[in-house]
Amino acid sequence: MSTKETLSFQTETKRLLDLMIHSIYTHKEIFLRELISNASDAIDKLKFKSLTETDLIPSDYKFKIEIIPNKENNTITIKDSGIGMTRDEVINNIGTIAKSGSKAFVEELNKATETNDIDIIGQFGVGFYSAFMVADKVTLITKSPYSDIAIKWESTGDGSFTLEEVEKDSIGTEIILHLRTDNEEKEEKYSIYLEEWKIKELVKKYSDYVRYPIQMDVTKEVPKKDAEGNPIENEYEKITETETLNSMLPLWRKNKTDIKEEEYNEFYKNNFHDWSDPLATIHYKVEGNIEYTALIYIPSKAPLDFYSKEYEKGLKLYTKNVFIMEKCKELVPDHFRFLKGLIDSSDFSLNISREILQQNRQLNVIAKNIEKKVVAELKKLLKNNKDKYIEFFKEFGRDIKFGIYNSFGANKDTLKDLLIFESSNSDKPTTLKEYVERMKEEQKHIYFVSGESRSQLEKLPQMEAIKDKGYEVLFFTDKIDEFAIQMLMEYEGKSFKSINQGDLELDENNDDKKLLEEKEKENKELLEKIQKELEGKVSKVKLTNRLKSSPVCLVSGEGVSFEMEKVMNEMPN
Ligand code: ADP
Ligand code: MG
Repeated sequence: MSTKETLSFQTETKRLLDLMIHSIYTHKEIFLRELISNASDAIDKLKFKSLTETDLIPSDYKFKIEIIPNKENNTITIKDSGIGMTRDEVINNIGTIAKSGSKAFVEELNKATETNDIDIIGQFGVGFYSAFMVADKVTLITKSPYSDIAIKWESTGDGSFTLEEVEKDSIGTEIILHLRTDNEEKEEKYSIYLEEWKIKELVKKYSDYVRYPIQMDVTKEVPKKDAEGNPIENEYEKITETETLNSMLPLWRKNKTDIKEEEYNEFYKNNFHDWSDPLATIHYKVEGNIEYTALIYIPSKAPLDFYSKEYEKGLKLYTKNVFIMEKCKELVPDHFRFLKGLIDSSDFSLNISREILQQNRQLNVIAKNIEKKVVAELKKLLKNNKDKYIEFFKEFGRDIKFGIYNSFGANKDTLKDLLIFESSNSDKPTTLKEYVERMKEEQKHIYFVSGESRSQLEKLPQMEAIKDKGYEVLFFTDKIDEFAIQMLMEYEGKSFKSINQGDLELDENNDDKKLLEEKEKENKELLEKIQKELEGKVSKVKLTNRLKSSPVCLVSGEGVSFEMEKVMNEMPN
């Protein structure tokens, strides 16, 4: 039975399609890399399944991706021998923005529609829809090894799609793009994607490292041969042969010295849903007891879902070039959950289970190693390019502070030198090390003050005496700052002290102290009187050396500071 059904896209999908079709986005050519990357993912999945389900495919099964341009029909087809999709999978994967139907996405989409900023598309893994940037009709024919029937999905991107049962003899997916017609006026040239040279160029540019052959029949003019097989001079003939367009060598297997920065960046953007270049790339190989290759990226921006529950940390895991899992979370500590990348190790068996992996000793060693490498890379960045580091810290610094706080200080030695704070002595945020280096000889503490903003804190009456002393004050404007510092307790033997709290120990000379004591005695009655007036509001009224031009200030006792008290009051019990 083959009936044709018409179904509607989700509202979000409709919006997205609209955005795709009407956008003035200039990088339309990326549709090809999106479809190739889907094809490659689908082959990965089939290959992985076939490791345990041995009768899924014949032993001589060919994993490949084919590109078939057809100038007569004005179509380009991308065909793979991957896992394909059942009817339900087509509806779930292609008809909806499955993982992205979240509120955050819709909000971002609205913003993007206003500003015509299409960069969010890559982040949400809506790659398939990029087909509509170049095609006015898309046909997808697919067969899963888990279903007897093949499915044809078709849409003109106008809000609905059709589904139909069809014949297809092989497993896999075929996507036919009916290209839009050229519009010279708008300088939109779609027929270019039917040209052999253009397709070759795009595959080289975006998909060279894809691990399966990307093939195309190419027509060549070659010298004609005579009966004995010798070339005849000046006589040529056209022959068609299947050519593999990509080199297939995974990028991470290549030598570091042979890889250009753009290649690393392209690879990142292709594989990790980001349209901006990464901030830093870490690529290294370990040999010996445990062998593995790591290709790790520090993104330059936090992804949109970074602070949502949906965000999952982890690196891709490969063993001997075979894809094992998308997010191996054991490989990265929480405070580096922003990392993207992959590990390829020959030390794991192909069908290792999640449970076994969790207790795997090698995996732990690799994870520790990765952490060390990342710390070293960040320290290098901090030293050589502070501005860039500041950018990094704006995006991901909170995770590092939480890392110190959440581990009850267990990670403090690893992370303390990655912290930077605003400070009264410099325009740029400073490290604790820099602070200590600038400390006055007689200065006992690292002073800080917590509050909403730097400008507000600079005006505090308490600042004056400290500034007079020439001491520096760190401004803690992030709520977590003070919690993290409490876990650190000290830095290079210097304890932290809030200028709002207890005795400032400004190292007054003895004369000053005596004078203060005398004055306290003289004014005993007055002080007691004020204290009585304010009973229940303050616990003690004292004379102080910490003020210069302001007559009075509030400070907290030795325990919890005002700011921490505020944060703790806000916390749900
Ligand atoms: P993503 O690749 O990030 O998941 P896409 O929009 O590119 O997002 O694809 C959506 C989903 O459609 C994929 O996750 C996959 O399940 C399915 N899909 C797309 N192309 C193929 C294909 N060639 N073979 C099998 N499934 C596919
Ligand atoms: Mg995709």
